[in-house]
Amino acid sequence: MSRIAYVNGQYVRQSDAMVNVEDRGYQFADGVYEVIAVHGGKLVDAEPHYDRLARSLDGLRIAAPCSRRALGLILARIVRRNRVRNGFVYLQVTRGVAPRNHSFPARDTRPSLVITASHRGPPSDAQVERGARVITVPESRWARPDLKTVSLLPNVLAKQQALDAGAYEAWFVDSDGHVTEGSSTNAWIVVDGQEIVTRPLGQDILAGITRQTLIEVARANNMRVTERVFTVAEAKRAKEAFLTSTTSFVMPIVSIDGAPVGEGGPGRVTLRLLDAYRRHLNQDAAP
Ligand code: PMP
Repeated sequence: MSRIAYVNGQYVRQSDAMVNVEDRGYQFADGVYEVIAVHGGKLVDAEPHYDRLARSLDGLRIAAPCSRRALGLILARIVRRNRVRNGFVYLQVTRGVAPRNHSFPARDTRPSLVITASHRGPPSDAQVERGARVITVPESRWARPDLKTVSLLPNVLAKQQALDAGAYEAWFVDSDGHVTEGSSTNAWIVVDGQEIVTRPLGQDILAGITRQTLIEVARANNMRVTERVFTVAEAKRAKEAFLTSTTSFVMPIVSIDGAPVGEGGPGRVTLRLLDAYRRHLNQDAAP
């Protein structure tokens, strides 16, 4: 079955889908995006994703390409037409097509909206059991990683550096020695066997939707979550560490810069959180 993409009002075969060479996303990375999980044919946590999209658009002063309701209908149609039961939708909004010029284009330039879908299940039990190795790299992004822009070069380079080192993720570390987040995931540690720690929200990290959901799920399960900064040294001493994202769910971290975390395998608290998160997904997907 060929995949169907949505491009500026049209549903087209993805292999035929195209954007203009003067799209500002292509020339300036002048755009934002979201990745939303599909579980049991339904979008997971759609509203918080729409909220974050609105914040990113606001931050870049790009107009919304359509209403939230229209966006929901288009996404539902893309999920249906691609017959996605478990997978992801990717949506990208750019400032639109205009003659190349750094300054904003004419007011009537319409933002571009592109949506694609993919089939991919959550990380398997074997992947979770293996866990993720993490390396640390100096923070090299601009001052607003809270805006989910398609300008991802530092993230791309950091992820590749991780892969080249045989790791899964790179954690950015700020000039104070504190971990900000991963190249495409939020960072967590578990200290004293029970305190779950993650960096507080601010302009320096992305407000991960999985992060927020997991905080709520953890607290609903009487687990203690503290939003505070932590250093690489503290993370290396921690009993457990893990990362979260829409595509990685809750993934145990087994080593940091080659040093084993805890016993060097998935931690007990992490697995409990993953279990609670999976239950949350299944609840959401109930018909
Ligand atoms: N931080 C960064 C830099 C990311 O790219 C992502 C994934 N989009 C996340 C954190 C996790 O966010 P979410 O849980 O919304 O996928």
